[in-house]
Amino acid sequence: MARSSFNEQASRLDGEVYGKIVAEMEDGIIAIDAHGKILYCNPSAATLFQQSTDELAGQPIDTILPPRFRHAHRDHLAGFMKGPVDAKYMGSRKSFIVGYRADGTEISLGATILRTSGSDGPIFIAVLRDLTERHQHQSELERLANTDPLSGINNRRAFVDLAGRELERCRRNHSPVAMVLFDLDGFKAINDRYGHDVGDTVICEFANIMKSIGLDNDLLARWGGEEFIAIMPDATLDRSLAVAELVRRNVEVLGFGAANGLSLPMSVSAGVTVSQDANESLDELVRRADLALYAAKAGGRNRVATQIGETTVAA
Ligand code: GH3
Ligand code: MG
Ligand code: MG
Repeated sequence: MARSSFNEQASRLDGEVYGKIVAEMEDGIIAIDAHGKILYCNPSAATLFQQSTDELAGQPIDTILPPRFRHAHRDHLAGFMKGPVDAKYMGSRKSFIVGYRADGTEISLGATILRTSGSDGPIFIAVLRDLTERHQHQSELERLANTDPLSGINNRRAFVDLAGRELERCRRNHSPVAMVLFDLDGFKAINDRYGHDVGDTVICEFANIMKSIGLDNDLLARWGGEEFIAIMPDATLDRSLAVAELVRRNVEVLGFGAANGLSLPMSVSAGVTVSQDANESLDELVRRADLALYAAKAGGRNRVATQIGETTVAA
């Protein structure tokens, strides 16, 4: 025997059964008229907004929308009223509804909006689902994807994104931009002599120095291994050299490995490059900073070198 379709099955459900489903379901349901007055809401919707069903019924929809979205919502509703579609879903990362609760807090909601007609004109029904947890989960995943788990600062992937945006902004403003690449000196020997754990501690301690020099943490990253990178929007050569030199001196005077009961001398080399009007790619800036870093290493380490165009200047 052929199975009956969903619609055929649904049409056999009577109003009482529908009423029970709507009253019991976990998703919130809110029906409003063309003027935005709430005609009906189920208990789940009332719970979402921290109100009772009786409190919500008869209120304008504005009561459950943050003040800054009320105007846009009215326009949205008017567009939907005239438009050709009878249903649409908003529940992705970028498209969702923000609800306003009785205590003034906001809630991210996925919403399926349906248009139907009642005896007094069109009725809009929103089926609402709380996305707060899902969004928190996604934000946490994004944070993890962008963070170096050892040092807690940005990883290369995050840096490429953020630095790309900064570079673009400097280009638009015809401002200079500087790039500094750091590489700890003789780091392999630390691992070999004291073990990987001590090496890890040293990496974290160096990251802390980077964080303490006053640059925006978003613009710093662990580039890989014991290499770190910083982009400095609007920075002149003098300023970027001063920052690199400050890091170098800090490393030189501090003892490393405190968490392992050690106080190891360390040094770092740095390569600096500047683009006067930010008219170069990120790859090109990294390439030049890397050439400068190579020169700093070749020059004896524990120093800062610069690469200006194709010219390397060892400090
Ligand atoms: P140089 O002065 O030329 O920079 O010498 P170096 O010994 O610092 O350079 P090299 O690139 O040979 O060594 C880097 C080492 O870093 C090799 C690798 O095993 C180690 N390393 C990379 N990532 C990590 C990490 O996450 N933890 C630890 N402990 N070591 C790491
Ligand atoms: Mg090294
Ligand atoms: Mg290295």
